[in-house]
Amino acid sequence: MADFYSWLDRLITENQKTIGSCQACGQCCDFEKYDHRLYITTPELIYFLEHIAPGNRKQMTTGTCPYNIDGKCTVYKYRFAACRIFCCKGDQNYQNNLSESALKKLKAICEEFNIEYQYQNLATALNNSWR
Ligand code: SF4
Ligand code: SF4
Repeated sequence: MADFYSWLDRLITENQKTIGSCQACGQCCDFEKYDHRLYITTPELIYFLEHIAPGNRKQMTTGTCPYNIDGKCTVYKYRFAACRIFCCKGDQNYQNNLSESALKKLKAICEEFNIEYQYQNLATALNNSWR
């Protein structure tokens, strides 16, 4: 997954003008207010959980990602693919195509490591992942 995120980050950096430059204001992490959705896959969730200490894992009980504290992402290094790809200022078509490419790679990771592929909204994924 580190290789996957390196690949994704490299593409985003190389195509910054097209994808848009995120100012990290955190507004889109308030999904209800921003009318935005975030879906994540099983490998992203597994990788995320491996890097977040059990005491720091949070359930999502509001319309905002629980890892957004005072407008800042507190898990920036391990944030999900869609968090990296989405930019309110960028070309949505390019972002959609990049998302499709990323999902293909994530499915291939599932096949390679015999992981069940799931694509869930963030609340469902977070709230069911450490019961
Ligand atoms: S992981 Fe970070 S960037 Fe992604 S929705 Fe949560 S706070 Fe926002
Ligand atoms: S994508 Fe836009 S709304 Fe979301 S954090 Fe970046 S600048 Fe803010």
